[in-house]
Amino acid sequence: MKTRFTLLAALVALSLAVSASQERKVLIIGLDGLRSDAFQQANTPHMDSLIAGGLFTWDAWHLGITVSGPSWSTIMCGVWEPKHGVTGNSYTGSKYNDYPYFVTHAKEIKPNLKAIQITEWPNMSDNVYNDGWDKKIKTGKDGDGAFTASVAAPILRDSADLDCAFVYFDQIDLTGHATGFNPNNTAYISAIENVDIQVGKVVNAVKQRPNYANENWLILIITDHGGIGTGHGGNSNEERHIWWIASGKEVEHKQISAPDPGSYRMAGGVDTNLLKLSPVQADIAVTALHHLIYDSGINPEKQTAWDLDGKSWLKTFTTGVKEAEEGVNMKLFPNPSKAVFTLWFENNSKDMATYTVTDVSGAVVSEGSAQYNFKTNIDLSGKPAGIYFAHVHTNGKTYTRKLILQP
Ligand SMILES: [Zn+2]
Repeated sequence: MKTRFTLLAALVALSLAVSASQERKVLIIGLDGLRSDAFQQANTPHMDSLIAGGLFTWDAWHLGITVSGPSWSTIMCGVWEPKHGVTGNSYTGSKYNDYPYFVTHAKEIKPNLKAIQITEWPNMSDNVYNDGWDKKIKTGKDGDGAFTASVAAPILRDSADLDCAFVYFDQIDLTGHATGFNPNNTAYISAIENVDIQVGKVVNAVKQRPNYANENWLILIITDHGGIGTGHGGNSNEERHIWWIASGKEVEHKQISAPDPGSYRMAGGVDTNLLKLSPVQADIAVTALHHLIYDSGINPEKQTAWDLDGKSWLKTFTTGVKEAEEGVNMKLFPNPSKAVFTLWFENNSKDMATYTVTDVSGAVVSEGSAQYNFKTNIDLSGKPAGIYFAHVHTNGKTYTRKLILQP
């Protein structure tokens, strides 16, 4: 018995040593101005493949000014506007010396980290300081982002000592301003589909790194705001309803769904209890930072000197703590499929669940009811190939996943 215990302990120690030896790295991909509902309707196979193995939300609600300068500052600094001070695209009033980008914090713990930013929007290079980047590359206005991807890919693939990168694409926002932020606007949808191809190139470049097997990359994809008509900056759901994706070796496959916690700019303010469960923009910097410095044992949420507002989702990736709070796990596989999908739903509460499958117009093509925990087959054979959505309704909430039916 004692021998067996010792052997087990040795094996556990060995597996911990193996995972600790993996170099922890972060890639953040920023897509300006992408509404959640339009993303869900666009055909985005490259980002879908990250969603299929990753943690994601279609329900990240914007809490502040739905404008790029303040939003990207929140994403990169992990604090809301009252702390980082940016309220517009000129970046005047910024307080990055007090509240720097997460890269600067990471370098306080690991001074030798190497970090790079590659962006199409010069404002976030020219007006930002104390951001921690070793190099900032401006690719300029770039059509469908192919040039930016061609600049980023070899750097991401070949820079052996690179630890952290941010790559930013502007086309979706530019198209929204020119023709409308709207899931029914084919130009907007087509811009999303174009940028998805560029995202695929950037992610593939990371996977082609010679030492990729020994590296532990956390890939985060996020937008700054949605849009309505040909603009944004207000408090409508169309501008505030956003999304994000996390993918990586430690990231479990799960959808986070939480109610709208409100906004600092709206009557009623922010519900701080809902905010604890809600996947918001300020969490991105804190999660990225936590991943980069995880092996130091320092939790950025507890660093009072940094005074961060966001929370780390890393503990969800590694221990499932947030899952216990949320109590829900929804899986759908295989996806894509030519006919039959298995829908698997786990729910800690004992409420009955119903499910529906809708096409992109919202028409119900399949439905049923089930226990709170269930596994069922959804047969879409004979239906037109394309995008569908599976929704599980329970306890007043709806959890949604995109399905792709192949011809
Ligand atoms: Zn814009």
